[in-house]
Amino acid sequence: MSQNPPLIRPDLARASIPADPRRAGQPTIGMVSLGCPKALVDSERILTRLRAEGYAISPDYAGADAVIVNTCGFLDSAKAESLDAIGEALTENGRVIVTGCLGAEPDYITGAHPKVLAVTGPHQYEQVLDAVHLAVPPSPDPFVDLLPASGVKLTPRHYSYLKISEGCNHHCRFCIIPDMRGRLVSRPAHAILREAERLVEAGVRELLVISQDTSAYGVDLKHAEARGHRAHITDLARDLGRLGAWVRLHYVYPYPHVRDLIPLMGEGLVLPYLDIPFQHAHPDTLKRMARPAAAARTLDEIAAWRQSCPDITLRSTFIVGYPGETEAEFQTLLDWLDEAQLDRVGCFQYENVAGARANDLPGHVAPEVKQDRFDRFMQKAQAISEAKLQAKLGTRQQVIVDHVDAEGATCRTKADAPEIDGNLFIDQGFEELSPGDIVTVTVDEAGEYDLWGHL
Ligand code: SF4
Repeated sequence: MSQNPPLIRPDLARASIPADPRRAGQPTIGMVSLGCPKALVDSERILTRLRAEGYAISPDYAGADAVIVNTCGFLDSAKAESLDAIGEALTENGRVIVTGCLGAEPDYITGAHPKVLAVTGPHQYEQVLDAVHLAVPPSPDPFVDLLPASGVKLTPRHYSYLKISEGCNHHCRFCIIPDMRGRLVSRPAHAILREAERLVEAGVRELLVISQDTSAYGVDLKHAEARGHRAHITDLARDLGRLGAWVRLHYVYPYPHVRDLIPLMGEGLVLPYLDIPFQHAHPDTLKRMARPAAAARTLDEIAAWRQSCPDITLRSTFIVGYPGETEAEFQTLLDWLDEAQLDRVGCFQYENVAGARANDLPGHVAPEVKQDRFDRFMQKAQAISEAKLQAKLGTRQQVIVDHVDAEGATCRTKADAPEIDGNLFIDQGFEELSPGDIVTVTVDEAGEYDLWGHL
């Protein structure tokens, strides 16, 4: 799965956990959620279940009877961070249950931290709950243990990640997610829609659709219909769009059927935004990466999308310094970027991940060359972003308000996903605004990544 570069990865920020009022004797669990937005959805699900069973959720180690650490194992640096988090939880609380991606390697964890109570892998909700029941037995109280309408959410109330499938059928050489998470397993469309409806009823104004490979949704179900809903991304996106919230699609691969999603943007059902992890542009590099859709004529696809939806925002991530990347291949990537004029771009320098097949490729690129390519790439991406934002001066944009304080309101336009893209700031006349409001502003100022505007 494509990941954002470490500097802008929301997974490197620990999510804050909302506190619960605790009744006397109520069993209480703390949670540290590391990992990508997909892992955050897992944490939310675990907490929702625990709360339904009568547990309180503690925002700190001291108030918890045990702590769950939801780990990330995508990069070696993320693994090290996960081990640190487990160590901290053991020191501060002492009773620790580990879950998440790194849980797929139990020996790695118990080797470093033999005192953890249990280790469960990604999406093993039942096993996590069993481990919690064993460590801290539940004490149900049917009068007070009512689930809040939206479950327990770690993201702000007005937006929510919506995971539509798990796993991946591809074998990109730099990625170990298919080994850790298995092959694609799509959730039934009716179950996703029910979850989305509940979220919208509970006040969520923006749904962020995530998975390892969003455009492959339903392939494993042969796109069959169940309870009136076909398991296909176009149908699902349309149905989600009818719920009235903003719908933003992440991790879409440029397969030909993606063209069918673009008209939904014109109809206002889905935000005119696509997050597509291209990773590179040179066909040989893509082949060495074993990327899906490596042979796609991506510039043609982009042109077709823009023709059908001129205000579409395209976001992508790239890897520079992949083993064997020549200067000529890198130059192709720069030229491609010039032509593609993507709105939002993240980049990271290739690094080995334990167990990935790319480690054994010949021609690893020297660190200083990687850094140089990264700098050149980001310089170009920044200039494109700046010019694109300048072009928005004087336009009127719908924005969603994320945060309001004494200084002003931090908002996002339809072109900005939370955590990874830019913001639009309002610093006058914002006093009446609240998080989740959707308002129209005029853009007055533009920087490299952010905008400023007034109501
Ligand atoms: S194998 Fe490729 S497509 Fe699948 S999760 Fe990894 S990077 Fe994404």
